Amino acid sequence: MINKSTLRKHFLAKRNRLSAQKVKQLSRDVCRQILSTSFLQKTDNIACYSATFNEVTLTPLFNELAHVFLPVIKANHKMVFSRYTSVQELVQNKYGIFEPNSQQIIAAKEIAVCLLPLVAFNRQGIRLGMGGGYYDRYFEHNKDNKISTKLIGIAYDFQESDTIQAQSWDIPLDAIITNKEVIKP
Ligand code: ADP
Ligand code: MG
Repeated sequence: MINKSTLRKHFLAKRNRLSAQKVKQLSRDVCRQILSTSFLQKTDNIACYSATFNEVTLTPLFNELAHVFLPVIKANHKMVFSRYTSVQELVQNKYGIFEPNSQQIIAAKEIAVCLLPLVAFNRQGIRLGMGGGYYDRYFEHNKDNKISTKLIGIAYDFQESDTIQAQSWDIPLDAIITNKEVIKP
């Protein structure tokens, strides 16, 4: 098995090679794919993310949705989701990622759908993230199926890898949406 950190380096290097224009173009394709599904109901609480390091940009979607929440990181690799109101009230965290300055934190059980950034994925719904384990911790409760937020990985098609292996703490994705297709494991 290729280790996670080697895989991360490989897939991050691939993503880093995208031009800003390509990121924009492919992100538009991803947003179109997202809107072609019925995953996002306008009135639902949707957890999104602020794209950094060439991640797929979802900002074109923010204005289409009524209730958007973004991650706010806390100590010990914990995070919460807080209401997005406008670009003006976003502030950069220690990773350089923009997060809401507001304190309108949502309870996990109120989030209908979460769109997750990723470094790589496989067709079984296993996600390779940046290595912080933030989403695995946050959605640990999803495992018992009592509270279940729909988890959707957002990716470029070239981030697919058949060499990723799940670890016991990895929370599987319910779907992956790329610029080319919607994958349901
Ligand atoms: P990522 O999901 O960002 O790719 P990993 O899955 O490699 O990152 O997890 C990163 C670290 O987070 C691992 O060391 C793992 O032990 C830790 N971790 C993940 N989920 C939990 C959890 N629910 N509780 C405690 N630690 C966790
Ligand atoms: Mg993980």
